[in-house]
Amino acid sequence: MARYTGPVCKLCRRERMKLFLKGTRCDTPKCALERRNIPPGMHGLRRGKLTDYAIHLREKQKVKRFYGVLERQFRRYFAMAERSRGNTGERLMQLLESRLDNVVCRLGFALSRRQARQMIVHGHITVNGRRVTIPSYLLRPGDVVSVKNRPKSLEIVRRNLQEVQREVPNFLTRVDGDVPEGHFGRPPLPEEVSLPVQPQLIVELCSR
Ligand code: SF4
Repeated sequence: MARYTGPVCKLCRRERMKLFLKGTRCDTPKCALERRNIPPGMHGLRRGKLTDYAIHLREKQKVKRFYGVLERQFRRYFAMAERSRGNTGERLMQLLESRLDNVVCRLGFALSRRQARQMIVHGHITVNGRRVTIPSYLLRPGDVVSVKNRPKSLEIVRRNLQEVQREVPNFLTRVDGDVPEGHFGRPPLPEEVSLPVQPQLIVELCSR
């Protein structure tokens, strides 16, 4: 699946919020948003008041950029959320949070979703004991995400765990044994979603 490969700090400046796309750098004074909190481009500061459409669009773009999904894949998630029972916006966020790259990052195995994606593609991660190399793999309740039991994989994950010390959300459980693993207990509640957005605005935009 295609992915965005351009400069990422620009995306945070565009959305005017931290999207944590660069790992540990995001928590330091080197963060581009802290140094230059203006939208990118020559006319960044000259843009006037956002229209109603722009407010809705920005909300969608934030989510896409944060989880690293492009338009087509995002539409697919939206269609899945619409087909399932319950609140479409909440379901959409649950699907995005259930992605394997997101879970690997939230467990602290990777410094960022980008790094998680690379680790998965390079075969460092297993799900229920089997190697999975698809970052968009959707986890189901009861799935166990683990690190491949080989020195190189373990070294990367142990180093990351030491570096980030991230708090694990309630819908996940991390077991720090010889081979660190995480349990995906259930889909997240709205307050457990990592990005503070209004999914209702995205639903309104995508339903037009
Ligand atoms: Fe965004 Fe991180 Fe860059 Fe800061 S350092 S602008 S949070 S990607």
